[in-house]
Amino acid sequence: MQCFCENKKTSYVKVEGDVGADPLWCYECGCNLDIEEVPVSSDLKDQLMSWAMLYGEWIDWNVDRLLPDGLELEKKHNERGQLLTEKVKTELGTTYTVRFSPSSSAKSYAKAGLKL
Ligand SMILES: [Zn+2]
Repeated sequence: MQCFCENKKTSYVKVEGDVGADPLWCYECGCNLDIEEVPVSSDLKDQLMSWAMLYGEWIDWNVDRLLPDGLELEKKHNERGQLLTEKVKTELGTTYTVRFSPSSSAKSYAKAGLKL
């Protein structure tokens, strides 16, 4: 997979949801990998993309505040992400190291809310 690492290829992949980004990243240089170049099945790509698109569903972006059940929504999103990471691991095989990076934005929103 292409990335900005020294050898231009990565074998260390991070699964992390973010707004407007593909859900796979190079762990070493932090660049966002083009999911089309990732050698996993198109079915899994679809699942990863729809998962990534739901990132932040626990936040009301109009008012930039956590939804009442935001923590629970984020927890579910992380559980699903963990599951998809296992699928990516299985499909990529032993050549790649795959790690899941769970979201914690709801928690930081919740903390910020407590301070106010
Ligand atoms: Zn890289």
